[in-house]
Amino acid sequence: MSRYAEPMARLIEELKKLPGVGTKSAQRFAFHILRATDDDAASLADAVRGLKASLRLCSICNNVTDIDPCAYCASPTRNQRQVCVVEEPTSIEAVERSRGFQGVYHVLHGTLSPLHGVGPEQLRGGTLVARVERGEVDEVILATSPTLEGEATASWLAGALRGLPVRVTRIATGVPAGSDIEYADEVTMARAMEGRREV
Ligand SMILES: [Zn+2]
Repeated sequence: MSRYAEPMARLIEELKKLPGVGTKSAQRFAFHILRATDDDAASLADAVRGLKASLRLCSICNNVTDIDPCAYCASPTRNQRQVCVVEEPTSIEAVERSRGFQGVYHVLHGTLSPLHGVGPEQLRGGTLVARVERGEVDEVILATSPTLEGEATASWLAGALRGLPVRVTRIATGVPAGSDIEYADEVTMARAMEGRREV
């Protein structure tokens, strides 16, 4: 039997599902919420509910969005024929910080990771290949992180696109090897984009 009353035990169990949250942190968050005002606790619950109710994935690029297609895919000022492939929706921010990129995105929602059971079927690459096959894309820029998984993912996508009428490039190694592109500063990211090479 849990040493906490059922509603408290339930909240702690839910919080423990969050990345990086262990039992101790979950207990601390749960007691913080218990001591919060009714309004603050209700705002938190509403924010969680609202996130799932109003956000979805863009049907073109898989970015997280409240409108479909997302703001990038619907933009008349962005080059819809130049597609930058990133691992996560949060990686888009890193590329946007470089300010030089005026194309659109394709979000894979992960990287290949055989150790964690993530194969090509688990990644959202199929719709990108379909876009290229329909002749809608001039250049695919592989902007996955220069980590083992990111490089493996870039090679796999380059292979999937081989033979199709599209230019495939990989960002330069201006992004420090083994690091995540989310942490690249804007100058580094801009250089990585400028120095991209054909693969
Ligand atoms: Zn989109």
